[in-house]
Amino acid sequence: MERTMDALRTQPSLLDGRVGHINLRPAPGLTFDDVLLVPRYSEIQSRGDTRTDTWFSRRIRLNIPIVSSNMDTVTESGMAVALARAGGIGVIHRFLTIQQQADEVRHVKRTEAYVILDPLTLSRDATVGEARATMARAGVGGVIVVDPDRVVLGIVTRRDILFFDDDGAAVTDVMTPRERLITAPEGTAFGEARAILDRARVEKLPLIDARGRLAGLITAKDIEHGMDYPLATKDRKGHLVVAAAVGIRPGYIERAEALLAAGADALVVDIAHGDSANAVDAARKLRAQLGDDWDLVVGNVATAEGTARLIDAGADAIKVGVGPGSICITRLVTGFGVPQLTAIADCAAAAATARVPIIADGGIRNSGDVVKALAAGAQTVMIGSLLAGTKESPGLVVVRKGRRFKVTRGMASL
Ligand code: 5GP
Repeated sequence: MERTMDALRTQPSLLDGRVGHINLRPAPGLTFDDVLLVPRYSEIQSRGDTRTDTWFSRRIRLNIPIVSSNMDTVTESGMAVALARAGGIGVIHRFLTIQQQADEVRHVKRTEAYVILDPLTLSRDATVGEARATMARAGVGGVIVVDPDRVVLGIVTRRDILFFDDDGAAVTDVMTPRERLITAPEGTAFGEARAILDRARVEKLPLIDARGRLAGLITAKDIEHGMDYPLATKDRKGHLVVAAAVGIRPGYIERAEALLAAGADALVVDIAHGDSANAVDAARKLRAQLGDDWDLVVGNVATAEGTARLIDAGADAIKVGVGPGSICITRLVTGFGVPQLTAIADCAAAAATARVPIIADGGIRNSGDVVKALAAGAQTVMIGSLLAGTKESPGLVVVRKGRRFKVTRGMASL
């Protein structure tokens, strides 16, 4: 018979950084299938009145409590963009070269912006062919033509050259020149830019400083994204928020540096046994050497003591879970592990006074498991296999007997 868990005696655990209060310490510990939440009296009138906003880490707020796993079959830029747009966050995996992983981060950060501060440009002696290649390579619909002082001369868009077959012609022959260009002064607010673009029926609004130089670009596409994804997790500049994983092998500081330079908002120190001198040492070194305008997530642990040690080492969020992953064979191979709901509750209790969020990592098979993890005290859940079969995950679709599959595997277990 299933035991029940009498949870949520106070407010929902994911709101305002509070953790739920439950008495959940019977040996040998509980996991998702061992408990059900008791339905209790509620004054909520409609599902529309509920809130799911929460904290990923000390400074990163999310609108939904979902984090995608740093697994190579789960999170690269495609998944990170999709999750940030939905209001969660993705953690780019580390089984790539430093350059490749940093490129994935950069790709996420460049996907959306309130103002593009470094728009693509061409010089006045560029050809139509170069404009075409530049747009194709970067996946953008227009390039601004500037003189050597970055004074704006015009704009060439995909439509200008769609049916123009002389690739050797000068870009200045096909561009919309400065005198017919719709522009706005540097510092124009997003809302006003939207009105200008709407009135002029154009899609790109170059921002220009007092001397006519290019200061930024606002695009209709970015405005549209803002309307399509109102819950998106964004930074102050309107870029989607993204995290990236690092290990502790030699070179991890260099990797971390490259990821932060690419714009990563958080680094996740990902070690199978996070309650170790190695993890504490890595956390301290990263914090000491790389400044503090980013959040440090460390894991994985499964006990209150491990949580306290990592918080002491400077962690802004703790990743909890030793053995619960769907693919994980740690418990079989090593005999170690703590049933996940007990681990979450223990770690959450240890993190509560420091107001450090808990990420419940592994073992989530359905939405009910998410709710149980949050009720036990986690602020977010990290999901691997459940997301591996989506179109946003890396990897090719395999078709077998007319059904479509994607391959997933553990990062350490075969
Ligand atoms: P899932 O959502 O698939 O149940 O769990 C995902 C989590 O499983 C990952 O975030 C990671 O913590 C863990 N995991 C992924 N691959 C491996 C592995 O090879 N070995 C172990 N021990 N854990 C893994």
